Formats: sequence, C-alpha cells, structure tokens
Amino acid sequence: KNMKANMNTQVNPCDNFYEYACGNWINNNPPPRQMSEYASFYKINNEVRDNIKKLIMTRPSSRDAVAVRKLRGIYRSCINIQGIDRRGDKPMLKLLKRLGGFPMLDGSFNKRKFNVNTAVANYMTNGFMPFFDDAVERGGPNDPPRKMYFLVQPRLHMPMNKFRNGLPAYRTFITKVMGLLNAKSTTLSRDIDDLVRFATSLNDLLAPWTARNAKRTFSELRRLSSLNFARIINIQTKKSGSTFRVKPSTAFYDYAPHYWSGFNRLIKRTKKETIANYMAWDLVYNTIGYLPERKYKSAINNFVVNALGQYPRGGDRSYSCLRSLTSDKSLVPIVSRMYVDKYFDKRAKTIASEMIEDIRKSFEDMLQNVQWMDAASRKAGYDKAAAIKKDVGYPEELLVDAKLNAKFSKMTGWSSAYYANTVSTWRNSKRESFKQLGMTLSKDEWHITATTVNAFYEPSLNRISIPAAILQKPFYNKDHPKYLNFAGIGYVIGHELTHGFDNSGKNYDLNGNRVQWWSSETLRKYQQKANCFVNQYNSFQVPEVNSHVNGKLTLNENLADNGGILESFRAYRTYIAKLGREEPTLPGLNLTPNQLFYLNSAQVWCGKVFTAAAWRRNLNEVHSPMRYRVWGSLMNSPD
Ligand SMILES: [Zn+2]
Repeated sequence: KNMKANMNTQVNPCDNFYEYACGNWINNNPPPRQMSEYASFYKINNEVRDNIKKLIMTRPSSRDAVAVRKLRGIYRSCINIQGIDRRGDKPMLKLLKRLGGFPMLDGSFNKRKFNVNTAVANYMTNGFMPFFDDAVERGGPNDPPRKMYFLVQPRLHMPMNKFRNGLPAYRTFITKVMGLLNAKSTTLSRDIDDLVRFATSLNDLLAPWTARNAKRTFSELRRLSSLNFARIINIQTKKSGSTFRVKPSTAFYDYAPHYWSGFNRLIKRTKKETIANYMAWDLVYNTIGYLPERKYKSAINNFVVNALGQYPRGGDRSYSCLRSLTSDKSLVPIVSRMYVDKYFDKRAKTIASEMIEDIRKSFEDMLQNVQWMDAASRKAGYDKAAAIKKDVGYPEELLVDAKLNAKFSKMTGWSSAYYANTVSTWRNSKRESFKQLGMTLSKDEWHITATTVNAFYEPSLNRISIPAAILQKPFYNKDHPKYLNFAGIGYVIGHELTHGFDNSGKNYDLNGNRVQWWSSETLRKYQQKANCFVNQYNSFQVPEVNSHVNGKLTLNENLADNGGILESFRAYRTYIAKLGREEPTLPGLNLTPNQLFYLNSAQVWCGKVFTAAAWRRNLNEVHSPMRYRVWGSLMNSPD
C-alpha cells in the first residue's frame, strides 16, 4: 500500500521511471519544516534522531546498564534548573582551585609554584586544551597498526576570520563574567588587557585548516616546543591505567608544524600569571554554559551575537540539553546501545550478513564473465572481493554490560550535578582515548556508529559497514518479500561493495594498501569503460539550473549504483532459483516480483529538491541527482 501511494501511475514507467515510482512521494511525506530538499533518507534519519531523543529523555531505571543510567542521569541534571542554581558557581570554583587557581579571580598568584607543563597536563586530564588540540587515532597505511598521537592547533574562543572584529565584545564578555564571579584582583583591568593580548598572539600563530602536517618523533618536537609533550602525554597514559609510555623515538603526527616556534617565543615573553589566567579563563569559557543560566545569559548572548554573529543561546532547555548530549561523540556507544536495545531487530544482523555473502557471490560470478580483464587481474579482483570485511548492525561488545560500563567508569550521572557530570564526561573521554594510545588496532573496532542511516566502504580497510539504523523500511524488513529487501539493503550492499572497485577503490589492494594490483592493460581498458560512464552521465540534463550532471565528479557513485543494482538483482534471482518458486506479489499492484524489485530500488531514492540553490548544490555532490541515480543505473541494466 505504501509503495503504491508513492507512485504516480499516470506516468508510463518506460517514459519516466523515477516519476512513475516516486511522483507522489512528496505529497505523502511533506517535509516537517521548510527545507530546500527532502527525501526518503532524510525522513528515516529524522525518525532515528527523534527516537534517540526519546531514549535519552526516558527516566533512568535500575534495570538499565549503569552507563545508560548515567547518560539518562546527565540529561536529568541538565533540565534540573533548580539543582544547577542551587550549586551556583561552586563546582567550577572548586575545579579551578584544584587546577592551580585563577590569579585574576583570587587576587593572588604563586609564581614559583607555577609550572606550565604541569598545568597543561592537569588541565588536559580534565579535558581542557587551551594551547593545542589532540587525538588518538590509527595512523596511515604505512604506519605500524597501532593507535598514534595526533597534535593539532588549538580551537580558540573565536574563529580566525572573526577574531579581530570580535575583540571588543570578547573583552566585554571577560569583564562581565569576572564581575559576576566577584573577581578580587586589584589590577583586573590590566590583567584582562594582558589576557586579550595573549589570546590575540595565539590567534596570529594559527594557520587555515588546510595546513600541511609532518610526521615526527617526540624528541624532534622537544627541540621545537618548550612544552614537554612526552611528559604531558605520559602523565595522561599513566592516569588512564595504561602501561604504554611515549619515548623520545615515538612517532606522531604534527598537524601544527607552523605553530611551535611562535608559540615558544610567546610563552617565553609572557608573564606566568597571564598564562595561568588564560588557562583558567579557557576553562570558564568552555564551561560557563553549564552554570546557572539566568546569571550568565545576558553576558553570553552579548558575546555570541556581537563577536560570533550567531543567534542568542537559550530557548527550550530540553532541546539544548538533547543537542549537547547527542553531539558529544564520546557518548556514541551508550546512545547506540539504547537504540539497538529498543529499535533494532537483532535477527536483522544475521540476515544482512547473509545477504552480504549472497551479493559477494553474485559479484564474483559476474567477474568470471568480464571479458576485458586478463585472467590474473580477474583473479586479483576475486581475491579482493573475497577479502572484504564486514561490520553489520552494531559492535557486539555494546551489548555486554560490563564492557560498556567500563568505558564510562569515570563518568558520573547524578541527577542534580550538571556541571560535575559534564566535566566528568570530558575527563572520562580523555582517559579512554589515552588508554588506546600505542595499542594494536583491533580488527573488531568500528569506525562508524550504529545509529547512522547510511552505509560505507572504506578502501584502506577493505571493509563495508551496514549500521543498524539503515536496516529498516524501505531498505529492510524481516516480513517483507525478499525482492523488496534485495532491492533495498541488497542494492546498498552491492553499491558499497562496488566502491571497492570504483575509480579510487581500484587503487587499493585487498589489504587496503595503495598499490597497483591490476595489469596495466586491464587498467587501460577499465579507464575506457569508465569514460563511457562519464560521457553518459555528462549527457543527463538538469533543467532546473540549466545545466547537466558532472559525469567525472559523480563517476565513483555512478559506478557503485550500476554495479550495486546488477549484483543485488542477480543475487535475488539466485535466491529464487534455490527456492524453486517465485515469491507472492503484492496486492493492489499488478506487477511481477522482478518489477517490484526495480520499483523498490527506485523508491529508496524518492525525494524532492525544491529550490534552484539546492539543485546547484546537488551538482557539486559526488552522488548524481536522485532521479539519475535511478535512471542511469536502470537504463544500463541488461536485466
Ligand atoms: Zn557510495
């Protein structure tokens, strides 16, 4: 019934199959608000986001895994305005004191006790990074398979392009906040001047994000930077419980090679007191949103509007609490766990895994018949397909309470301590990340989240990922006939698998290394075939903007679409051949199972682009406009 409602049966499917399949979709699925484009994908995505919000808003229960209970507790603490008001500034002042104080607030400073390395390490343990940013990630394909350290320039309080103009509002903001905190320094105005000047110098050291990076050792960095990174990092790994320690010879990625010499000079010429003030102010800046809202609202909004050019903060508390919790990447495992428990049919994991095998088989069969490849290249292609690894649904360890809880052991979820909860979340996230440093990469590690409505192929890992959130209608349903599931999630699987052999995927071998693994002759013929696709898609008109599809830009996605639909249709026919009979058709639609396959394969792309601006943006997209994703791959399909 749903399928029929989306169709425009007035149109002859042979004239315009997309209009035939999707012509009525937008009437049945009006966008929730004014949008420049809206499609089936967006709709499912919105539903998933709404469900996640409901899950976070659910009252914590003793039946929840401890980590889940904590997240729900944090949400409660965020909407508990009375609790936040009652605690006032105390939790922040306590933290500042523990980290060595805030000279211009306390009115005192012990110059001899202050050591910038120790201070940086202590702030960092709590998730505050005033002078640089970092990450612990896998390195490049030529690095040993261990988690490495990445050093990045800091994110300051105003973006580079707004810094100069924002300075007056920034200074006003600091002055107001210091007043609200009852600053005791007798030289406050001068202290603030020093601080603003220091922030400006830091900003001058930054480079645009496209800046190059350098792989180097910590002993090399020691010569460049007055901060002793090996020491600072080892304090973190030790606190995380890991036995790994950085050595002078340990390599890492420096994404801020432009930054260090200027930073050194700046630290050398700046008063220790100003450095201490800046670090403490950075903490206040980053956590002021977790203090009593009424007290700081006007100061914050004055800054946000005048310096950052953004809309004032505030509005619906519940909405902003949910937004802050759902945008925190460190909380993803808990959110995924809740989602999978409540909304995911765990059998889908097995079924989708089986479908990946069916489609892999179908791809391999097709490869047997590719005439333009020589035997050795064909064999190599076969081996690569056979070696593709798969992530389906969610990582298994999410469902093991002990493992999930251990990841959040330092996070608190008290229902009335929002500030402390937030800082504990950051501290926990830092600790978990440093626990990983130097660790061998786990084969089971997920690089995507279960709640993403999408699917992926990663060439450097030779791995496809089908997250839990895409395993739902119209892509998949356990009660649907197989032709609908093959047309939906089967098509998606085929698409991702084909990415392993698209114009960039073909440059990576079965282990994800960038090497040539096809013969030059086969590659040459591949390029010829690929050019056919470029020319074909170039010829598709986009009258809305008086232009046409960019065949080169969209080549990889077009190849994936074309391959995906062939592979999944043939996998479906193999399934039927094994079954020995056709599946029942659908009531109300006078169509064969094969026709229904193609109808659903088109309907997953139903949607509408409303404005010319959106169409133009569409032309810069690596995916072809939705109607051509359907037309192109179907007109090329011999089936
Ligand atoms: Zn793709």
